[in-house]
Amino acid sequence: MIYSFAPEETILQKHERVIMAKYALINATIFDGIDTIFKGVVIVDSGRIVDVARDTKAEIPRDAQVIDLDGKFLMPGLIDAHLHLVGMRTGDFVKEPLVTPYETFVVRAASDLFKLIMAGYTTVGDAGGLIAAKLKPAIEEGTICGPRVVAAGLPLSPTFGHGDIHYLPIDWVDYRSSKKLRPLMTLICDGADECRKAARYALREDADFIKIMATGGVLSQKDRPEYRQFTPEEIKAIVDEARAAGRFVHAHAQGAEGIKNALIGGVKVIAHAIFIDDEGIELAIKNNAILVPTFSIVHRLLEIGDKIGVPEWGLKKSREVYEAHIENIKRAYNRGAKIATGTDYVGGFFPMGGNSLEITLLIEKIGMTPIEALRAATSTAAEAVGLHKEIGRIAPGYSADLIVVKENPIENPKCLLNIDNIVLVMKNGEIYKNKLNDTHK
Ligand SMILES: [Zn+2]
Repeated sequence: MIYSFAPEETILQKHERVIMAKYALINATIFDGIDTIFKGVVIVDSGRIVDVARDTKAEIPRDAQVIDLDGKFLMPGLIDAHLHLVGMRTGDFVKEPLVTPYETFVVRAASDLFKLIMAGYTTVGDAGGLIAAKLKPAIEEGTICGPRVVAAGLPLSPTFGHGDIHYLPIDWVDYRSSKKLRPLMTLICDGADECRKAARYALREDADFIKIMATGGVLSQKDRPEYRQFTPEEIKAIVDEARAAGRFVHAHAQGAEGIKNALIGGVKVIAHAIFIDDEGIELAIKNNAILVPTFSIVHRLLEIGDKIGVPEWGLKKSREVYEAHIENIKRAYNRGAKIATGTDYVGGFFPMGGNSLEITLLIEKIGMTPIEALRAATSTAAEAVGLHKEIGRIAPGYSADLIVVKENPIENPKCLLNIDNIVLVMKNGEIYKNKLNDTHK
């Protein structure tokens, strides 16, 4: 691994040494993050893409380090727009958070961040959990190795909502009153005023965007995906607070009514969208909102959930919603709704680094073409984390978040699942992984 951080080096010195570097990536088969594939050259300077040229017509700066890709596939770094860096290692989310020290979860999350970047994920959207929000400075200064993190921090839920852990005393659930830290904690709020205050509290605790529970869910004990949770008034108050601070709102929304409430309230990202109806699809398109179906978590729950300690109520609801989820998202896709990749992975059996499963599920389950699925994992996912002007594309001015894949994922999207096929990872112009010259090819 080229990535290094000399102990005597200050952050500023490291920035100058690594970030100011110039690279010319030549002989590449380039996917630009939208729809174009061509043979060409990408020039990177000081962390940014400064030139993209077809064939060999690019001016290569004399001081640039030339990296010959020998025809390999170059694309924007992958983005997972909905996961939780909470360091889970079993499927028993009732017992594990109670018996495991909080610090253990933090260290596991740091190790999961490393796995993500080695798998080609250069940005992740953490959709709830304080660990990612608080590890962010450690990534940015180079103490730990990981993707760019865009984090919700503490999610907002009504009493009896999806974020309310129904089997615990309620003062253990709310971060503000609990005496024990657990990886998934919530801000419980009811009524527009409490919601406004909770949104401000989430911002105080480093939220890059606000996560809300607009409906019940699969893995919450006493509610159901169909239940409407926050009211339109409550959602509007939260969206207003987010907007005032230049942020957006990402909703857990599974039932048709809650999805529409979220969209009417101004929510930008609809996660899961299990029972989205025609009206909801039209609203999403009209509002330019993005759906993040998170098929991966349901797929894994059905595959192994009964062997890893997932409570029966979660498994039962997963089985009930599975078919409808696929049918409804397929309808949304056919009507032209924007869809981005997100896995809802939490670590362990829902493994960080295995996130490309979502790309293959979008192809297999709803019929996306491989190019559309790669777009969902790059430029559309960039939009879902609020960074579409910064990442997710190979174009001049964009951050140099790039990966090189040994095989061509347009021909074989499953090749992304084998992390040995990800032979180069660059984030913000810095190389985190370089296996291009490995002898055994
Ligand atoms: Zn989630």
